[in-house]
Amino acid sequence: MTACDEKPLMQVVDVKKYFPVSSGKTLENKMLRAVDGVSFNVKYGETFGLVGESGCGKSTLAKTILKLTKPTDGSVHFEGNNIYKMSKNEFQKVRREMQIVFQDPYDSLNPRMTLEEIIAEPFIIHKVPQGEREKRIRELFDQVGLSEKLLKRYPHQLSGGQRQRLSIARSLALYPKLVVCDEAVSALDVSIQAQILNLLLDLKDEFNLTYIFITHNISVAKFMSDKIGVMYLGRLVESAPKRELFENCLHPYTHALLSAVPNPYVSKQRVLLKGDIPSLVNPPIGCAFHERCNYRKDICKEMIPQLTEVKDNHYVACHMAGKLNLNLSIL
Ligand code: SF4
Repeated sequence: MTACDEKPLMQVVDVKKYFPVSSGKTLENKMLRAVDGVSFNVKYGETFGLVGESGCGKSTLAKTILKLTKPTDGSVHFEGNNIYKMSKNEFQKVRREMQIVFQDPYDSLNPRMTLEEIIAEPFIIHKVPQGEREKRIRELFDQVGLSEKLLKRYPHQLSGGQRQRLSIARSLALYPKLVVCDEAVSALDVSIQAQILNLLLDLKDEFNLTYIFITHNISVAKFMSDKIGVMYLGRLVESAPKRELFENCLHPYTHALLSAVPNPYVSKQRVLLKGDIPSLVNPPIGCAFHERCNYRKDICKEMIPQLTEVKDNHYVACHMAGKLNLNLSIL
C-alpha cells in the first residue's frame, strides 16, 4: 500500500476511556473522562499529528487505540477489523503491526538487559530463528544510526538520543505498519530532537510506515504531519490537513495555539487564554472550552458541540464554526 491509497489503515470511532475516581469524603464514585468520544481515520502512509496541552488525554488515547489499556467504549478498526472484538490469539497477530515509541526511553527499557537483549526480545516472542534474529539486530542498529559496538552495553550507558534510537529500533523490529510516537522527542535536547525527527522521517520512507505522532508542540506536529487533530479535555476539537489547519483554522482553541508559535520574521500578537484547563472529572457543561473562550454564546454553555465536517476533510467542534472573525493574519 502507498500513501495514495485512500483506504484508512486505522479508523478510530467514538473511543472513550474513563477512570473511576472516588472522593474520600463522600465515597461518591465519579468518572475521570480522559478520552471522551474521539474519532479519526489514518490512511496508509500518512502521518496524523495529535496535538494538545499536557493532560488533555493524548497519551491515554494512544494506549487505548493500541489496546494497551481497556477501552470504555468505541471501536478501533485496523485494516478493516475491529481490534476490540478480537480474541487474544487474533490480536497477537495484529499487535506486531502496531507499535509505540514512548516519551521517556529510559522508563521503557529494562536496565538489566543489554541493548542486544532488548532488541532481541520481540524476535524471541515472535519465534524468529536465531540466525535471522542476529542479522536483523545488526541491520536495525545500522538503520537507526547506532554503532554495533554498543550491542553489549546497558541503557544507562547511552545518551538520551541513543536511547530513543534504541526504542525506535525496537519498535521497527517486526516490520510494523503503524507506529504511534507518543511525545517521542519531548524529553530530548533541541539539537537531538531535530536528529530524531529527521530519522523518523527517513525511516517512514524506508519502512513504508504510517505514523500517529503525538506532541504538545504544534510546530513539531507541523514538521512531521500530513493531517493534524487538536485535542482539548479528552475530545478532538478540530482536525484538518496540515496546511488547511495552519492557514484557515476555525476553532478558537486552535487559533490560540497557533498564535503562540514563534516566528522570528514576524512580530505576532498572541491570543492569551484566560483561566486554567478545567478538571476532567468535572468538565464544564456544554462546550468544554467555553470558560476560556472569547467568542462564547449562550448555546456554548448548554450544548456540547459535535465534531462536524465543515469543509473537505476539515472537521470542527464549535457552535460558531465559520461565523467567527478569527484574526488569521497573526498565524
Ligand atoms: Fe467558543 Fe462556543 Fe466555539 Fe466553544 S462552541 S469554542 S465556547 S464559540
